[in-house]
Amino acid sequence: MTKSKFILKPGKEDSFRRFHPWVFSGAIQRIVGDEPTEGDVVTVEDWQGNFVGVGHYQIGSIAVRILSFTPVEIDLAFYRERLQVAYQMRRSLGLENGDYNNAYRLVHGEGDNLPGLIIDIYRNTAVMQAHSPGMHYARHTLAQALKEVMGDMIDNIYYKSETTLPYKAALEQENEYLLGGVGDDTATENGLKFHVDWLRGQKTGFFVDQRENRSLLERYSRNRKVLNMFCYTGGFSFYAMRGGAELVHSVDSSAKAIDLTCQNVELNFPGDPRHQAFAEDAFKYLDAMGSNYDLIILDPPAFAKHRKVLNNALQGYRKLNAKAFEKIRPGGILFTFSCSQVVSKENFRLAVFTAAAQSGRKVRILHQLTQPADHPVNIYHPEGEYLKGLVLYVE
Ligand code: SAH
Repeated sequence: MTKSKFILKPGKEDSFRRFHPWVFSGAIQRIVGDEPTEGDVVTVEDWQGNFVGVGHYQIGSIAVRILSFTPVEIDLAFYRERLQVAYQMRRSLGLENGDYNNAYRLVHGEGDNLPGLIIDIYRNTAVMQAHSPGMHYARHTLAQALKEVMGDMIDNIYYKSETTLPYKAALEQENEYLLGGVGDDTATENGLKFHVDWLRGQKTGFFVDQRENRSLLERYSRNRKVLNMFCYTGGFSFYAMRGGAELVHSVDSSAKAIDLTCQNVELNFPGDPRHQAFAEDAFKYLDAMGSNYDLIILDPPAFAKHRKVLNNALQGYRKLNAKAFEKIRPGGILFTFSCSQVVSKENFRLAVFTAAAQSGRKVRILHQLTQPADHPVNIYHPEGEYLKGLVLYVE
């Protein structure tokens, strides 16, 4: 079926009986058949010749990402079926909801049994991101399958993988439209509008993973003075405004993010004087600000992208949260997050706990937050859980 066969060392088949989708390079005893090229579809067998799975090969510590644990062709029909399941699930959850909500994640890698692939939907545009050479090579097939599954619901497919593919793979990737190319760049989330800059923005252009957490914030915003730190395109800010906040200050070190935030606030609350935005470094801003805010959001970028820098990252979370505890008004609420995959829930909580203790404030945990249903975690791949948040009441 495939040109190359990867044979596992004895005993290494166990994790695949539990459907874990990664074959680490250390688990491989030998390769038979053709010498594989990065991105090839390869077959994996145990040392006794039993079929284990079929997946994408790549150079690195994860050698194969399993696409199927039964022998199938990885072709248009395969991708169509997987996308169909993913789409049906989002529809059944009510995420595709006309003008009220049309921004959601359609494919969340391993969580949707499509390791290495991310697809976000913004109204009639799909933004597709490959994290593996295999998905990069499959991009045209994927685009065709996606159009077949979603039909008239999408007019554009933008492929954006310049920064997400392993650079050593030298795939000469370009960001490009695989379908369509023009149109409106606005989408809605829970009835709020925003522009999505998938061409130049971070990730696919918007952080759809905070949808539920923004809704929760809306409920707690009435009459509060809100600081949205690391605001990016301002998601939390416009929810806070709809929730009746007294004032909302959005801060991000990127001037472009501040521009986007202002545009998005303008889309929803034109001319509303409650909102102000500042392009500044988080630590500088937190040092210089007064003690007026009674609702603070801290949603920083991933401080740790690798296990090696975990300790530094935990120090970073501690310092950042310590500043918020120091300054937040009595009776204030802190929404604090970490999106680093390598930082566990326990480690994040410990960093925040240490920061709270340092400040000497009385702190209660009101909510423990995570990623929403359109970023599902494959039960066999717990590594897929990456977003962690705490909502804290600070006396
Ligand atoms: N809360 C956002 C997503 C945040 S992404 C949302 O709901 O969409 C992280 C943001 O942190 C990015 O926009 C990045 O520009 C910003 N950032 C990174 N380092 C920063 C720093 N030192 N100070 C302030 N902002 C920073």
